[in-house]
Amino acid sequence: MTTDCLFCKIAAGDIPAEKLYEDGEMLAFRDIAPQAPVHFLVIPKKHIADPAGIGAEDESLIGRMMRTGSQVARENGISDFRLVFNNGAGAGQTVFHIHMHVLGGRSLGWPPG
Ligand code: 5GP
Ligand code: ZN
Repeated sequence: MTTDCLFCKIAAGDIPAEKLYEDGEMLAFRDIAPQAPVHFLVIPKKHIADPAGIGAEDESLIGRMMRTGSQVARENGISDFRLVFNNGAGAGQTVFHIHMHVLGGRSLGWPPG
């Protein structure tokens, strides 16, 4: 755990979150400022700062995050959804512990603004 990291603290249970899924490697929890009727984040418990920091040893973990996020989306009643990873402040990243947004429950425009 990286001590100053908000999502490491959520993963450790030190900061509360509305959890939708948890196992030994990852956690899904509702975004505190939802941008759609369904908006949750999937994070690995391992601290990885951003998508650019994904190592070869993390490939199966990231794949499982995508599979789990899609499954939790369907369990929450949505079949159409968007999976988003932001990398870097210029792309909208504000928390530097990798996370995948899962958004749905309304129509989503493309391309994003
Ligand atoms: P980013 O902009 O880095 O891609 O996404 C970070 C997300 O984390 C934002 O959507 C923001 O609303 C969410 N967030 C920030 N702090 C907290 C928190 O303490 N709890 C939860 N559940 N979400 C948070
Ligand atoms: Zn972290």
